[in-house]
Amino acid sequence: MDEYRDCPVCHEDSAYLEHEGGWCVYVTCPICGTHTSFIRYDNEEEKAEAEIKSIRLWNMGKVIREQRGE
Ligand SMILES: [Zn+2]
Repeated sequence: MDEYRDCPVCHEDSAYLEHEGGWCVYVTCPICGTHTSFIRYDNEEEKAEAEIKSIRLWNMGKVIREQRGE
């Protein structure tokens, strides 16, 4: 299994894979809400690929910052 890099926004080692409704997956940081784009899957094989892709996106820093009013 690939390792997660620290969150590129808050630099915490907190990232994990989140499955949404059993049809898409993304990596998210629960501390600051940063996440990768959702990757859709239709079966177990695609699910495994989607998980790997999500972790790669995260590790490349291709993430979406949660905008919070400050
Ligand atoms: Zn974070």
